[in-house]
Amino acid sequence: MTFPVQKVRADFPVLAREVNGVPLAYLDSAASAQKPTQVIEAEAEFYRHGYAAVHRGIHTLSAEATQRMENVRTLAAAFINARLPEELVFVRGTTEGINLVANSWGTSQVGAGDNIVITAMEHHANIVPWQMLCERVGAELRVLPLNPDGTLQMEALPGLLDQRTRLLAVTHVSNVLGTENPVAEMTALAHQHGAKVLVDGAQVVMHHPVDVQALDCDFYVFSAHKLYGPTGIGILYAKEDILQAMPPWEGGGSMIATVSLTEGTTWAKAPWRFEAGTPNTGGIIGFGAALEYVSALDLNAIAQYETTLMEYALDALAAVPELTVYGPRNRLGVIAFNLGQHHAYDVGSFLDNYGIAVRTGHHCAMPLMAFYQVPAMCRASLVMYNTTEEVDRLVAGLKRIHQLLG
Ligand SMILES: *Cc1c(COP(=O)(O)O)cnc(C)c1O
Repeated sequence: MTFPVQKVRADFPVLAREVNGVPLAYLDSAASAQKPTQVIEAEAEFYRHGYAAVHRGIHTLSAEATQRMENVRTLAAAFINARLPEELVFVRGTTEGINLVANSWGTSQVGAGDNIVITAMEHHANIVPWQMLCERVGAELRVLPLNPDGTLQMEALPGLLDQRTRLLAVTHVSNVLGTENPVAEMTALAHQHGAKVLVDGAQVVMHHPVDVQALDCDFYVFSAHKLYGPTGIGILYAKEDILQAMPPWEGGGSMIATVSLTEGTTWAKAPWRFEAGTPNTGGIIGFGAALEYVSALDLNAIAQYETTLMEYALDALAAVPELTVYGPRNRLGVIAFNLGQHHAYDVGSFLDNYGIAVRTGHHCAMPLMAFYQVPAMCRASLVMYNTTEEVDRLVAGLKRIHQLLG
């Protein structure tokens, strides 16, 4: 069966607009994806007809809203094949999920002389919280290096792990190179040393099914906004025993069992212990609609379509003179490139004139820019609503820029 890309596009109203007098080619979904009508309407419907504060409410609207929020937790748990919905914490996004682990689990489990292992292709969100933790507690941050083709030097991993390794934090897929890392294999290796494993899934969940039990990772994080859902909402998954043993990070309402001014405070059970304050309920409802949307399309069908589109794009881009593409052939979702010696900002603004939206800059991965010795890259993202025609426009645009700029 062929993937119904035109039907999918029709669900995303913004894809029908023009920029600079030409139809928009939106190739920036890895930064943030567009939203289908189903998501926009679900969130609007909640505010129109169902809105109320969740938890503690005895009235009907509050009880309904609480139920709908918990239903989304159940839906998200099934989406990543978690054993229990209670293993999922609603967070603002990938960044907050990682900071929660660093500040709660990290502060209680990582001490002076311990070490944490990351890789040289991490997003800043999976670097900086670990740098901050290591500095705070006197631990060492170790970095698994890359091969020039943008894959990890897997043979160097055993040498970085030892009895003092508390955590391996690795991205499932690089947001710059598109490299898919062998996270199940890495997890098994880290577990042999008694280390826990955090996987940054921000660039995976929209591309193919994820099974956290099969990966056997201890933590998995992702954001709704790259999965066609709203901004400001995401998921931290943690294995039940680990999550229940973690101390609170943010304190406030909804995360307590009892509060006494003389005898102190007792905590609610996880995941609610980690959800202090009024949650982003509207975002959670929209996130639920996004999960239903991609599930109805079937992530395996999405993966198949996107793989074909990626192959087409890599072949087509090979015809652009002086184009450097970074990362391995076998990749998911993104193509980072530079045109000759031209700065990525110049190339990106020419493409914008042709209606083509790409990301330019360091992509929150400055260590990766340093590795390739460039200040910046352009990055084109390909997702389920992109087409071969849009790829053709990108290729034609790049050839034109090469002619103009030399
Ligand atoms: C986008 C991204 C993040 C950060 O996600 P936020 O939604 O901005 O918190 C982290 N890691 C990777 C790989 C990403 O692509």
